[in-house]
Amino acid sequence: TNIPTHAAPRTTADWQAADAAHFLHPFTDFQALARKGSRIITRAHDVYLWDSEGHQLFDAMSGLWCVNVGYGQEALVDAATQQMRQLPFYNSFFQTTTPPAVELAELLAQISPPGFQHVFFANSGSEGNDTVVRMVRRYWDLQGQPERQVIIGRWNGYHGSTMAGASLGGMKYMHAQGGLPIPGIDHIDQPYWIEHGRGMDREAFGLKAARWLEDKILEIGADKVAAFIGEPVQGAGGVIVPPASYWPEIQRICDRYGILLVSDEVITGFGRTGNWFGCQTMGTRPDLITFAKGVTSGYVPLGGVLVGERVAKALIEQGGEFEHGYTYSGHPVACAVALANIRLIRQLGLVEHVREDVGPYLAQQFEALRAHPLIGDTQTCGLMGAMLLCKDKAGPDGAPVAFDASLEVGMLCRGHCFANGLVMRAVGDRMIIAPPLVITRAQIDELMGLIRRCLDLTL
Ligand code: PLP
Repeated sequence: TNIPTHAAPRTTADWQAADAAHFLHPFTDFQALARKGSRIITRAHDVYLWDSEGHQLFDAMSGLWCVNVGYGQEALVDAATQQMRQLPFYNSFFQTTTPPAVELAELLAQISPPGFQHVFFANSGSEGNDTVVRMVRRYWDLQGQPERQVIIGRWNGYHGSTMAGASLGGMKYMHAQGGLPIPGIDHIDQPYWIEHGRGMDREAFGLKAARWLEDKILEIGADKVAAFIGEPVQGAGGVIVPPASYWPEIQRICDRYGILLVSDEVITGFGRTGNWFGCQTMGTRPDLITFAKGVTSGYVPLGGVLVGERVAKALIEQGGEFEHGYTYSGHPVACAVALANIRLIRQLGLVEHVREDVGPYLAQQFEALRAHPLIGDTQTCGLMGAMLLCKDKAGPDGAPVAFDASLEVGMLCRGHCFANGLVMRAVGDRMIIAPPLVITRAQIDELMGLIRRCLDLTL
């Protein structure tokens, strides 16, 4: 008799109570959240969000690294509604296809690095990486080398939350639950200078970190290794930008042992680093590229794998049926939104905007932040940025000295941000941002003002 409807006006407390009663949020301590109550985000425009109390927030995380074109882009809304009216769903399983899926596949081939003419669609980055595992192993089966099974990822890498995605990733707290990793996955350390390279020249460290891949290949046996997967810049791990020497050396090692290189571009794709794809910024030639997020700017879910010539040729010419796919592979509404999104990125010149204008400007502003007493190091790549909170700027080895981990200084800082109109994320003692690509210089100034204020409150 008293069933609430969406139309009924609700207070923030009502929303919080219903949220706590029924909604199990991802990556959340449910009881702790219920005690505190969720913040109810009700609308958004450009780079700003508003909550149910009318407070404005600067969204320096683009949602979850996905709203590349910013909020409120009517072209994407129109594409979705028109497609829903025309054909809300049809599948591409049994010798059918739909115009938006075909057009998107064609457009992706145009904007991808040379050698990428094919795409396999999924709904998320995690599903994309599950597809990668199936495809990589299928590829080696077709080469008559079925013993090549092992895929090497990195500790503190993030590749999603499904069984395969979380296994490829190197988040130890995820491996601790649910029987992960699945068999045939191995990991090497991340190229994080602060953690593994202190006292070393950064570029020399980049080479050393890449050679951990060679050591691992030799330990396992090159004839058993199928692929290496990495994010061009680790995102969820804390925006860890590797030294320039790292990726070319990884490429050399993959080439030397003939193993496939997979670039997980779920965050770095679609302009984030100042090129369409992060592998172009890092100078690698991957065999497979995982994408999601920025392909639709998060307006609707879509992900997938761009398939390079080497793997595509084997799957198409030798493979017979590939026993893999999702109901929504090539969903027409998602593909229509992706088409509108990519066209808008082109029309607004957002890739160039990041590469030539706001990316270098953010880099300059982050460098200036190093004068702040709390900041021991900063890194940016395009519109990804990280600042390291530290106790001392330089210890005996010249590198910053961390706070005691129990202080949770990152969470403290994040709390100040959230209370003061800024969404910035904390990964341990690294504060990270990835604002929408439409951000202007004036908005970067506004953002830096908010960041400084929150750092001062954290002191
Ligand atoms: N790969 C990377 C690099 C990611 O950052 C993410 C998500 O943050 C994923 C994969 C998983 O994507 P999804 O959450 O869409 O499954």
